[in-house]
Amino acid sequence: MKVHDGMYIDGAWRPAAGTGTIAVVNPATEEPFATVPAGEPADIDAAVRAARAAFPGWAATPPAERAARLAALRDALAARQDEIAATVTAELGAPPKLAHAVHAGLPVTVAGSYADLLGTYAFEEKVGNSTVLLEPVGVVGAITPWNYPLHQIVAKVAPALAAGCAVVVKPAEETPLTARLFAECVHEAGFPAGVVNVVTGLGHVTGQALVEHDGVDMISFTGSTAVGRRIGAAAGGAVKRVALELGGKSASVILPGADLAKAVAGSVASVMSNSGQRCNALTRVLVGADRYEEAVALAAEAAAKYPAGDRIGPLVSAAQRDRVVAYIEKGIAEGARIVAGGPRPPLERGFYVAPTVFADVTPGMTIAQEEIFGPVVAFLRYEDEEDALRIANGTEYGLAGAVWGEPEAAVAFARRMEAGQVDVNGGRFNPLAPFGGYKQSGVGRELGAHGLAEYLHTKSLQF
Ligand code: NAP
Ligand code: MG
Repeated sequence: MKVHDGMYIDGAWRPAAGTGTIAVVNPATEEPFATVPAGEPADIDAAVRAARAAFPGWAATPPAERAARLAALRDALAARQDEIAATVTAELGAPPKLAHAVHAGLPVTVAGSYADLLGTYAFEEKVGNSTVLLEPVGVVGAITPWNYPLHQIVAKVAPALAAGCAVVVKPAEETPLTARLFAECVHEAGFPAGVVNVVTGLGHVTGQALVEHDGVDMISFTGSTAVGRRIGAAAGGAVKRVALELGGKSASVILPGADLAKAVAGSVASVMSNSGQRCNALTRVLVGADRYEEAVALAAEAAAKYPAGDRIGPLVSAAQRDRVVAYIEKGIAEGARIVAGGPRPPLERGFYVAPTVFADVTPGMTIAQEEIFGPVVAFLRYEDEEDALRIANGTEYGLAGAVWGEPEAAVAFARRMEAGQVDVNGGRFNPLAPFGGYKQSGVGRELGAHGLAEYLHTKSLQF
């Protein structure tokens, strides 16, 4: 058992205020293998004070110098990509290839994108007789989930730093080791002390202390809609800015002109990647009645290509596994038909769930409405395009979606979808495109220039 001490506060690893610890469990073996300190409100207070003290200096640092530090962060993350990937595999369970390419690789791209963006971003604009200044909002509290443990941190911290903000990060309790590696990379990149602070701990203790702290100007949260709602209410009550990146129940709509095999394979892959622990997974696949059975058969074949342990990792925790299995049982109880997978564990050890495909799912079923966050995909039938649109838009969520079909028809359909991102005919992920939700999927956007704007105030000077 490796014991990790300290919190990264004010540019150094400092003793935690309390003596509590959090055990980190390997979800493939079910064995605890490390501990980190469980933060207390006093740790958050120390981190926020350090950030407040560092903020004016960092805000006044020229964009070119902020860009240089972000480029150094990108390089530090790249230099430790193997170590980061191994850590993500150990604490999240991601298969090594995915861990290396996506979990450890994407943050290098995102950190670099903000270093680059600072070269051209206009922090001043003219509007008639006014000059509008874009200024950093101040101290940002970043609360992140475990499903993309490094990406979620970098997608908040890099734009906040680019804007000139100081940050306190509270990472998910399941994946604190990746967050500690991030802090080490920040340190190596040479940011001034206090500009970035990382406090490990439990959501209802350290997370809540961060949300409620008077010294925090903005909260950026990614996680469940239930917690996001509470954080939004608390931030609203204190008139703090808030950005929320919440859950999804995204639709993949297969129109008559689509390449069916490609559409089904792309949709199933989106749900199996990261064991379905993705807010933008295409978990509802909508197919016209005439091609429905063919699509379902293709999906069962596609799911069989994900043997547990090799291409698909375990879920992050026993609790998450139990939650997903309960949804599968609920799907069966409500009358959906299993064509691949099911509730039985595919391996004896580890928090694995079998890649599961449901057919005969109707829009009112629980598995068609609620975010499962596991390798479970639901196939629904539609009558015509209007019916498909009603079903696609018929959940409380609106994070992402996909449309497959003749290009013109697909784009016309995508325009009518209530979702922040829609991939047309398998369009690939763009780390510069704004990412975020309509409806209960959130408030605000991450990534690229839109993600940077979230961390800026505007001030108008009249002449
Ligand atoms: P969660 O409870 O929403 O946690 C997300 C983050 O918020 C964690 O850092 C958590 O800390 C913190 N937190 C929890 N309660 C808090 C509070 N009262 N005040 C401030 N911060 C708080 O999500 P989860 O438990 O990890 O996962 C539950 C479900 O959320 C999943 O099954 C999935 O449906 C959804 N989810 C969605 C996303 C997404 O990307 N949209 C990501 C993860 C999860 P602790 O880790 O210490 O609890
Ligand atoms: Mg939690």
